[in-house]
Amino acid sequence: KDIKKHFPVGSGLFGKKNHFVKAVDGVSLDIYPGETVGLVGESGCGKSTTGRMVVGLSDPTGGEIYFEGKKLNEYKAKKSLGKNLQMIFQDPYSSLNPRMTVADIIAEPLVLHKVGTASERRKRVDELLERVGLASYHGNRYPIEFSGGQRQRLGIARALALQPKLIVCDEPVSALDVSIQAQILNLLKEIQNDMGLSYLFIAHGIQAVKHISDKIAVMYLGKIIEFANKEELFENPRHPYTKALLSAVPHPDPKMRNRERIILTGDLPSPANPPAGCSFHTRCPVAMEQCKRIDPNLLPTSKQSLTACLLFEDKVAN
Ligand code: SF4
Ligand code: MG
Repeated sequence: KDIKKHFPVGSGLFGKKNHFVKAVDGVSLDIYPGETVGLVGESGCGKSTTGRMVVGLSDPTGGEIYFEGKKLNEYKAKKSLGKNLQMIFQDPYSSLNPRMTVADIIAEPLVLHKVGTASERRKRVDELLERVGLASYHGNRYPIEFSGGQRQRLGIARALALQPKLIVCDEPVSALDVSIQAQILNLLKEIQNDMGLSYLFIAHGIQAVKHISDKIAVMYLGKIIEFANKEELFENPRHPYTKALLSAVPHPDPKMRNRERIILTGDLPSPANPPAGCSFHTRCPVAMEQCKRIDPNLLPTSKQSLTACLLFEDKVAN
């Protein structure tokens, strides 16, 4: 609820004192049991930082995070509830300790949370290896002996060790060969169906979250600018930024294929110095004069969608 991550930067920068980089600036999001919320946006928009705060790897500087109605901000709550929240990282090469055996890597969360005896943990590791499609004899090997896709399977096994309820998947397939990506996505879906897990699935491209997501949140410069059911987002995108992202994706319906491609000009502004008013106004193809002054709120635009754009502020849905 309204989570923020503001990093202080040296005073005097940009001629202002106590200046902050607003990496995440007021994100609110609900994730229900068994569903996948895709979180998309360009590099540097704050999506990974949001994911890290959700699982407790980073503390928000404002706002609150709730898990099953309980506030997670306090240290004690984090310790007791934290095992429900796990993360799968983008880079399967750097997220596994090369000096540890696969069995020790996967058992590490169990050791940290003091779950089971050594032999019970080993049994659990074998089950987890099989769950992710690897034979249990792999437990005595080292990460270097595995391919990228296999290493991501190990990362998934480690994330499943404590039987979490929510996994934040931070671009889990973008470092993998295209031929391997579908295998890993299918594995994640299968596991979700078996365990009733929820995912917050982070990616920079909207197409990458299309198949796995139930709902999609689009981030721009630290804020969610559109949040909708997947079908609605793809069929009826409202925010000009979402429209631009989608116009770059080939449409499955041939009649829709020659719709106009919206090319955004200009780079993503720095979150250290975001534009005033609507932060998208410097690149928005339909920006109006008031967009330079007024920062739009994320408001309902239908039963299934929220949009932060002045074009919709007077058209709040029924
Ligand atoms: Fe574009 Fe204005 Fe809407 Fe921002 S508020 S997205 S600048 S039209
Ligand atoms: Mg990232």
